Amino acid sequence: MSEECTHDCSTCGVDCSSRTEPQSLLKPHNPAARVGKVYGVVSGKGGVGKSMVTSQLAVLARRRGLSVGILDADITGPSIPKAFGVHSRAMGDERGMLPVETAGGIQMISVNLLLDDETDPVLWRGPVIGGVVTQFWTDVVWDVDCLFVDMPPGTGDVALSVFQSLPLDGIIIVASPQELVSMVVEKAVKMAEMMNIPIVGVVENMSYVICPDCGKEIPLFGQGKTEAAAKAHGLKLLARMPIDPQLARLADEGRIEDLEGRWLEPVADAILGPAEEE
Ligand code: ADP
Repeated sequence: MSEECTHDCSTCGVDCSSRTEPQSLLKPHNPAARVGKVYGVVSGKGGVGKSMVTSQLAVLARRRGLSVGILDADITGPSIPKAFGVHSRAMGDERGMLPVETAGGIQMISVNLLLDDETDPVLWRGPVIGGVVTQFWTDVVWDVDCLFVDMPPGTGDVALSVFQSLPLDGIIIVASPQELVSMVVEKAVKMAEMMNIPIVGVVENMSYVICPDCGKEIPLFGQGKTEAAAKAHGLKLLARMPIDPQLARLADEGRIEDLEGRWLEPVADAILGPAEEE
């Protein structure tokens, strides 16, 4: 025990044998910000549609009348601004950094909104990236009921620092059936358990394609693997999303807010409560 022991382990960084509580690394948000719930969207690797799911959830929540933000923590693959057609630069005032608003009124912050040229690669090492993501939380003047965090893929040091510094109310796991789904789910579950963060459920992306001639679902990468992996961990498979050329086009053209698909409504229900009948 340190000589200056205050018996409050939560504020103490000393690694002593008398520690009774883990030290909290959670950071407070900007004092001028208002943030309701915070949900992280995670995946095992890049390219499985994590940003697509984050964007769609934000759009669905916004359509339910909430004020919504997206914190793009996927620093080396920041695809969120492009999907929303946002190319302006984030500005600041005396209170801190201001998020940029999309046409539909979603607040967003991303490293791409800070670069001189959005095609510049981000050649930073893990600790620097982790620091930037933390600043997106501590410095940005959010005013949202619900903040979605597009997490860095995998379970590396950047993901870890985001998990540790942001007070996540829950995470959504995105997997696609062409990866080793059971391992991806298991890793995400272990990470969430270690951080004491509830898992809302699993989304399977790229589950099938719809035959343009007969409308039949074709499960390109096999069926049932994600559901089995979710079940093995007591989780719900909340949604299955097809490979849909229209989705890819909307994201490419920066028009994701024109989305018509409602595959992720069950995820929005799980987070926000059931939608009111239209
Ligand atoms: P991640 O965030 O996991 O790296 P993205 O969300 O950026 O992945 O998706 C990778 C690419 O695949 C993007 O071009 C995106 O528009 C496209 N994509 C993702 N999900 C779908 C889908 N269900 N149908 C069609 N295209 C998709």
